[in-house]
Amino acid sequence: MTEKTSPASGAALAGDPSERPVLRVEGLHHSYGAGTAAVHALRGASFAVRRGELVALKGRSGSGKTTLLHLIGGLDSPQRGRVVLDGTDLSELGESELLALRRDRIGFVFQSFGLIPILTAAENVGVPLRLRRTGFREREERVALLLALVGLAGHAAQRPAELSGGQQQRVAIARALANRPALLLADEPTGQLDAATGLAVMELLRAVVRSEGVTALVATHDPQLLGLADRVLELSDGEVVEG
Ligand code: ADP
Ligand code: MG
Repeated sequence: MTEKTSPASGAALAGDPSERPVLRVEGLHHSYGAGTAAVHALRGASFAVRRGELVALKGRSGSGKTTLLHLIGGLDSPQRGRVVLDGTDLSELGESELLALRRDRIGFVFQSFGLIPILTAAENVGVPLRLRRTGFREREERVALLLALVGLAGHAAQRPAELSGGQQQRVAIARALANRPALLLADEPTGQLDAATGLAVMELLRAVVRSEGVTALVATHDPQLLGLADRVLELSDGEVVEG
């Protein structure tokens, strides 16, 4: 079995670019450790996500959700199989190309927000734009627009410690959208929030997927959030099944 797709399957997708999925995951295998101690987190996970979809990824704790998101986001490379983002096979990229893809094409939202404590909300949102050397004026405008989008226009100057958990996650979502990514990856984004705040954050994700035309893959095991997704996938025994 070869891990590369044949030219034929590539050609089948080449016709209409709008029909091409934003994300294609093919036969991913990933394990940790070796020998009898090895944990097989993924055993042939495959699925595709179309442009503009909000897809929820459920699965019990330890089912491989984080592993899968890391492989899709290029934070780790699979032992077998491949990830194709917007027609680009991640395994064919060099280190600097992968870095650029992570910076420009993917937005990450983590359970623990991941904001930089000494920066204000506005400065945190502006970090990806600085990394891309976006000019001052354009940066200021985009940051203001993003903070308004997530309902935090009046909180630009506050640091993370001066914001609630829900507000911090809104800042993180704004930051993840800064570079207009093709794909937003969120790993249990409501895991540290109470139920009502978590629902509000998920509703925000739902709204930005519509308004920003972004595509999102959200790992969650919160049943009240699954209803907001266009589609639910489940990780079970290292494979992805339609939920
Ligand atoms: P989830 O996010 O669904 O809880 P993970 O992807 O974090 O699942 O973990 C899948 C499996 O891989 C679990 O059994 C976990 O213990 C194991 N695992 C994850 N990361 C590591 C690691 N860095 N080293 C060893 N085992 C790991
Ligand atoms: Mg996890």
